[in-house]
Amino acid sequence: MPLSPLLTEVLGCPRCKGALKVHDSEAGPQVHCPVCQRAWPIEDGIPQMVPERESPWPRSSGLGSGGA
Ligand SMILES: [Zn+2]
Repeated sequence: MPLSPLLTEVLGCPRCKGALKVHDSEAGPQVHCPVCQRAWPIEDGIPQMVPERESPWPRSSGLGSGGA
């Protein structure tokens, strides 16, 4: 079930109140703010926008960092 874009519009970034983008990572869907360069995981369709779940965005800017 795709996440409604309306959800992220309503929520907005907790930092800058800007529009959030939805991204599917290997760990699951995330929302991220391209302005603040921060990302939060989405669990059960609900973005976990709390400081302890916050991660830098992009998570790994280094190409070919070799995950897994
Ligand atoms: Zn922001």
